[in-house]
Amino acid sequence: MLKPIKQKMMGWHSVKVSPADTVFSRLVRLRDKQCVLCGRKGTGEEGIYGLQASHFYSRRKWAVRYDVDNVWSLCIGCHKKSHQDITEFEDFVLEKLGQKSFNLLTLRAWSKSPLGSAYWKNLTKKQAETIFFPLLGIMER
Ligand SMILES: [Zn+2]
Repeated sequence: MLKPIKQKMMGWHSVKVSPADTVFSRLVRLRDKQCVLCGRKGTGEEGIYGLQASHFYSRRKWAVRYDVDNVWSLCIGCHKKSHQDITEFEDFVLEKLGQKSFNLLTLRAWSKSPLGSAYWKNLTKKQAETIFFPLLGIMER
């Protein structure tokens, strides 16, 4: 059965959110638990409320839409700022990954997604959790 893609308001822009997006966003925020730029902590029971899983290379680049090197937790303020000026976010990703991994991420970003967007759009929440959650233990950097 195909899952509908919901339209979700993110404050200053709206984005289409699939179950895979929701699950992956939670995973990234559980990894970081704070804004990677200003250090603002997430709140709530899991320490992820008030954080947004932010894509360095655009969500439209499907090959890195669910790539743990491309998606980082930002507070709403830093996320908004990064859309106006990417410099600080870019410096962070470059420093975090190092030049070689940063270059590889860039290569992946400009590649065609091997699975294609339809695959990800049609995943159920359960399927997405099965794929993404095992990553949590191995994605500490
Ligand atoms: Zn911040």
